[in-house]
Amino acid sequence: QVAALKAEGVDVISLAAGQPDFAGPVEATEAALRFLSECGGKVRYTPSSGIPQLREAAAAQLRQVTGVPYQPAQVVVTCGAKEAIHLAIAALCDVGDEVVVPTPAWLSYEPMVLLASARVRYARTDAATGYKLTPQALAEAINERTRAVILNTPSNPTGAVYTRDELVALAEVLAPTDVAVISDEIYWPYTYADDGGPGEFVSPAGIDGMAERTAVISGVSKTYSMTGWRVGWVAAPTELTKVIASVKSHTTSNASATAQHASLGALSGGDVHPRRMRDAFATRRRLALDLLTAMPGVSVTPPGGAFYIFPRVDAFYGAPDARIHDSVSFCRALLDDARVAAIPGSAFQEDRCVRLSYATSEQQLTEALQRTAAFLAALEPAARGASA
Ligand code: PLP
Repeated sequence: QVAALKAEGVDVISLAAGQPDFAGPVEATEAALRFLSECGGKVRYTPSSGIPQLREAAAAQLRQVTGVPYQPAQVVVTCGAKEAIHLAIAALCDVGDEVVVPTPAWLSYEPMVLLASARVRYARTDAATGYKLTPQALAEAINERTRAVILNTPSNPTGAVYTRDELVALAEVLAPTDVAVISDEIYWPYTYADDGGPGEFVSPAGIDGMAERTAVISGVSKTYSMTGWRVGWVAAPTELTKVIASVKSHTTSNASATAQHASLGALSGGDVHPRRMRDAFATRRRLALDLLTAMPGVSVTPPGGAFYIFPRVDAFYGAPDARIHDSVSFCRALLDDARVAAIPGSAFQEDRCVRLSYATSEQQLTEALQRTAAFLAALEPAARGASA
């Protein structure tokens, strides 16, 4: 809809983007072009789990990021992180198994679990715990049918980042069980400390005793701004990796050969590119937080990572503006009146919030949030009514 409005010449600003707005690294393009020019037109199947050099490079990055001594044989290269998550769920779950998904949650987890004929058990989190799963909530969500829990740090949509202590506490709950962890870490370079510098990223797999039960999900989409290349990976204990590799081999075979070479090129540049994007995101995050916290009726939990902010806006639901009664109608009115696009929180199982992405220029971000402030100011009586 935003694209259609833009095509009509309407001045819409989108804060809905789920991908970095930067170019990917030149090393990626160069590696892809080199591969194409050197292969003489013979773009063949690769091993279905990926070319050895990329599995090695991904394992090396995972070793550095997670602290777990991953070997290339434990890595399966996939068509984006999306396929990696799907394969992990498919490999782990049988009919009737349950997967614990803390909410707010990325919207594809549930359909993937259902495709595996398993069931989702949502574990609600809220601002009081920084949108993070507590040990108590995890313990309550687990039963004899639980096969896995999905953790997403940094989180889409809340930006929540788990600390080492928080992960240790969750690991203690899991220790006496055989529940697996699917750890979606695709936003790992994007963490923010209070001073704007990088925050600490801790992988759940790096906690004592956790690597044996964890499938780590990562890739180049968000970290290297390469969403269209469709390359991700999963790293898991050897036995689980074998099952994942088998499902991959019998379903989609290898990720695109050219895209694998591009990803290898990206990884050869280390974390220079991700760090540069992180610094730009950090500036925008500060800008957005300052503007949002000045808006009466809006309640913001500062995100520790990713490139999203997930403010509560339910103070604006209800009279006197009869149009607005939930996150979908809020976003519709914001688009109609202010020409700003956002994603309703209901897409992530939290109807009180909306997701704003700051993967857009500082100038566009400022303009969009100024428009949002003016839009909310016109609705403010409703907010006062709601909180009265
Ligand atoms: N996991 C999360 C939390 C995401 O936000 C996304 C994309 O939006 C994905 C996985 C999928 O990533 P990819 O584009 O690499 O398939």
